[in-house]
Amino acid sequence: MGCWLLKCRECGETWKLLVSFPLRKEFKQLYHYCSKCGRNTYHEIIDYVEDEC
Ligand SMILES: [Zn+2]
Repeated sequence: MGCWLLKCRECGETWKLLVSFPLRKEFKQLYHYCSKCGRNTYHEIIDYVEDEC
């Protein structure tokens, strides 16, 4: 199982989203909860990490 490296557009925090399915990289952005902002924000999808999660 891999994960996605996401970057919050509001605070710039990068973190890993563990997923059991690959998102499409074409999405470019993802609306998700940011623990640093404490709310849902748009995230930039940086890269898919295969085995360093
Ligand atoms: Zn944030």
